[in-house]
Amino acid sequence: MRRSGGEPKGSSLPIGYEEMLEEAYSKIPSIGLKHERFEVPEPQSAIMGSRTILFNFKEICEVLNRDPVHVLRFLSKEMATAGTIDDSRVIFQGRFDQDTLKRLIDRYVRDFVMCPVCKRPDTRIMKEKRLHFLICDACGARSPVRPV
Ligand SMILES: [Zn+2]
Repeated sequence: MRRSGGEPKGSSLPIGYEEMLEEAYSKIPSIGLKHERFEVPEPQSAIMGSRTILFNFKEICEVLNRDPVHVLRFLSKEMATAGTIDDSRVIFQGRFDQDTLKRLIDRYVRDFVMCPVCKRPDTRIMKEKRLHFLICDACGARSPVRPV
């Protein structure tokens, strides 16, 4: 911010200072701020008999900006079970508690969402030949990821 060479007027701020501040703040690009509050929803799940229902599966996938099929494939593999997408829910064979689901979703985020270079979640997965890459829209990094 430029300093004017004017005489100090007591302890009061120069006229327009607050307006200038406000303007400066409004000019901070909103790009990159949109994920400041990137928060993965807590899994809402319940065990029903021998199955586990993850109610907010779709919501989680939307926040992660990932293909539900990809997320499901990862979870099913890690849990060594089968899962079926049913509208916004997913139904897993077997009994799994919320902590297990949370841990796996966190691992998914770490491995398939967060850019390993700048640690931001503004990424997408690109398939090239037989390789998968995590492309970061924030810093442009291209990191190999393991296939699910
Ligand atoms: Zn990055």
